[in-house]
Amino acid sequence: MNVHEYQAKGLLKSFQVPVPEGGLATTPAEARAVAERLGPGKYVVKAQIHAGGRGKGGGVKVVDSPQAAAEAAEQIIGMTLVTHQTGAAGKLVRKVWVEKATDIARELYLAVVLDRVAQRLAVMASPSGGMDIEEVAEKHPELIFTTHVEPGQALWPFQARKLLFGCGLTAAQVNAGTALVQNLVRLAWEKEATLVEINPLAVTGEGTLVALDGKINFDDSALKRHPEIAELEDPEETDPLERQAVKQGLNYIRLGGNVGTMVNGAGLAMATMDVIKMAGAEPANFLDVGGGASEEMVTKGFEVILSDPNVEAILINIFGGILRCDTLAAGVVAAAKKVKLSVPLVVRLEGTNVEAGREILAQSGLDFEVAGSMKEAAEKIAQVVAAAQAR
Ligand code: GDP
Ligand code: MN
Repeated sequence: MNVHEYQAKGLLKSFQVPVPEGGLATTPAEARAVAERLGPGKYVVKAQIHAGGRGKGGGVKVVDSPQAAAEAAEQIIGMTLVTHQTGAAGKLVRKVWVEKATDIARELYLAVVLDRVAQRLAVMASPSGGMDIEEVAEKHPELIFTTHVEPGQALWPFQARKLLFGCGLTAAQVNAGTALVQNLVRLAWEKEATLVEINPLAVTGEGTLVALDGKINFDDSALKRHPEIAELEDPEETDPLERQAVKQGLNYIRLGGNVGTMVNGAGLAMATMDVIKMAGAEPANFLDVGGGASEEMVTKGFEVILSDPNVEAILINIFGGILRCDTLAAGVVAAAKKVKLSVPLVVRLEGTNVEAGREILAQSGLDFEVAGSMKEAAEKIAQVVAAAQAR
């Protein structure tokens, strides 16, 4: 799960990581009021969406009066911000974070990230933080320093010092920064985050360190242990179809293509997406209906797939194990009748009760193609969408 910058900064603050003072606003008048409360000086007005790259997209503005903060909020709230992380459709901005502007001398990069290969948290730091960190990673990987944390333990001070001296900080800054980095690791560990990123970590004109941006991802599977984190979820930031699917207990992720997929088992679902791509088509979604899916779950899954207007054909790939093929077939028939199936269907069924399943489909009067192997299924679906597009 992702949270907004303002929520991340709240957490950073509670872990003693210095952040600028600020407040949330959903209207220009509120933005002005926040700026007035912060006192005289400059302010930064920042779009709150679940995506980075806001600065380059026009979602971060530095202004010098409460009136100008209101004007910036007027421009930003309601805009559809397109950044390299939002996709072409962009994201609608509903709120802004207004904070006291910082006098920036240098921008560093600092992050704690779950390194799945090392099975540990990794701490990464770079003297070249700011808006082009992706480019630094690509062209100057030697400017990114990494160290790993022993699971459940604090980061050793020497590890933090090594990173921070690498960032070119003075001895005094390294001392302050050591506590900061250790606190960041503690936050990641205690809240079970998979990423805690500060970019930029600013060195101010006075030489202090302050987190100017905050991005935190949490492990969804750990949210049950952290109700105070689960509460931070912004339903408006999740895809409405994904939200609907989660409510139905389905494992559904929307993708960009036009081939809807219904599969049982996450591994088979991934493999199905691969073969679809290899056949030259693009999956519209990942959907694992699960091993023990009921007819009702299959119906709901089908409804979710068909609610995506991009779907031009559906591939059902089921290996009947715990989920029997006849249950799946009954669910598909029920759903197809309920939602008036309007796109071509290719079905590949194997496994438990496959004959009964095929019989149910054959008797249903539904129009669909049967495929014997996964490869054949993918090729058929690719032909079907190509034909649909040629029409
Ligand atoms: P992102 O583009 O979504 O990562 O948003 P950031 O919060 O990182 O802001 C983008 C850029 O805006 C930063 O890299 C800074 O250069 C600039 N910025 C952010 N806050 C301040 C501030 O308080 N003062 C000044 N002068 N610039 C800021
Ligand atoms: Mn940033």
